[in-house]
Amino acid sequence: IRSGELDAAEYFEFYRQRAAKDPYNSYVWVADETPAEIDTSKPFAGVPIAIKDLFCTEGIPSQAGSKILEDYRPPYSATSVKKLTTEAGSTLLGKTNQDEFAMGSSTENSAYGPTLNPWDTTRVPGGSSGGSAAVVAGATAPWSIGTDTGGSIRQPAALTGIVGLKPTYGAISRYGMIAFASSLDQAGTFTRDVTDTAMLLSAMVGADPCDQTSLGLPEPVRLPTADSLKGIRLGVPEELSGEGIEEGVLKAFNETLELAKQLGATVETTHLPHAPHGLAAYYLIAPAECSSNLARYDGVRFGFRKQADTLLDMYNQTREAGFGAEVKRRIMLGTYALSSGYYDAYYGRAQKVRTLIAQDFKNAFGDFDFIVTPTAPGVAFELNSKTSDPLAMYLNDFCTVPMSLAGIPAISIPNGLSEGLPVGFQIAGPAFSENRILDAALALE
Ligand code: GLN
Repeated sequence: IRSGELDAAEYFEFYRQRAAKDPYNSYVWVADETPAEIDTSKPFAGVPIAIKDLFCTEGIPSQAGSKILEDYRPPYSATSVKKLTTEAGSTLLGKTNQDEFAMGSSTENSAYGPTLNPWDTTRVPGGSSGGSAAVVAGATAPWSIGTDTGGSIRQPAALTGIVGLKPTYGAISRYGMIAFASSLDQAGTFTRDVTDTAMLLSAMVGADPCDQTSLGLPEPVRLPTADSLKGIRLGVPEELSGEGIEEGVLKAFNETLELAKQLGATVETTHLPHAPHGLAAYYLIAPAECSSNLARYDGVRFGFRKQADTLLDMYNQTREAGFGAEVKRRIMLGTYALSSGYYDAYYGRAQKVRTLIAQDFKNAFGDFDFIVTPTAPGVAFELNSKTSDPLAMYLNDFCTVPMSLAGIPAISIPNGLSEGLPVGFQIAGPAFSENRILDAALALE
């Protein structure tokens, strides 16, 4: 316990009371009591953890922001949740609000109402892990976890002025994470500073026999120590740091590049020629995978059901009433892209673009230690300002989607304000470079 003044149970209770009164609709469930006994031999004893709703938590609602999972209480917990609680000793404080099945960039696509940005409650906290970002920014939890499929940790971290890390694909088990797009879904962390990121990450990583795509990390996560960027080469991809980025965001970005130079880094322009096609590829691959993953919600097995006279009517009416508009849009897009006759033209081509983007990064990492960009093209936007324009919403992911397609780790750290609202700076490195990314992020913090 960092304060040194509260014991483990008092520390948990302090946050529990704050969380219960959270004014931003960041939580969809909050623990109703503090455990009588806390095992203080474990490293995170008494430290509350807030968890995105799509992580399965045994016996506790896990609804992924969707009505179709209303009051679904899984019979098991996700591996990452178990690692944080059973193994590391933290206690579940609450489940956080999110866009339905993690589809969105504002948390407005939640069946449980939007989350508000603690910096300005007329604005969104970003998404899809907006609840997990708002609990840290609003200090109703010391830290939290979320998932990032195309930017859903990094963008909300940027829009709420905190640190958000998407690790290398496979570093953390996906077992028990309600699936959106399985080849992209990645669990990660929200914290107030970079040292906390390292601590939280260290407890979550690891290969898991229940997730065949999990690898863990080749070396343990260590606490970052760097105070300079001496000898570090930063590449600034022209494609992701110019057109379409708000002026105030670019100004903060350039100031951070200056700081990096003062800390000893070299900064050079580089190219990721295929990165601008990332959005187009992502918005085919992610919907294609989601259309398959979401086929299981048929009213038979989970939560919500609409009774009807025939089985087919029950399926249809359950899905009609249980899914929100964005989820339906993506299921239709994905089903279309996968249908015979269109598969090669859409899904097949998108996969080729994905390979080219991964190759672009590989080439760039021949010359640079890290690729840096603004995290999001703008600051937190007003509630309802983009809900009727899906393409405007998708543009938020412009700078984050390429790293997701390539499976590489990236962090967003706060780097100042624009119009009084927080801005994020993104540092991406080669697969498994988490320790080095954390060092660089600490130096810039
Ligand atoms: N905003 C992106 C989408 O809507 C990314 C979501 C995510 O990373 N889960 O798909």
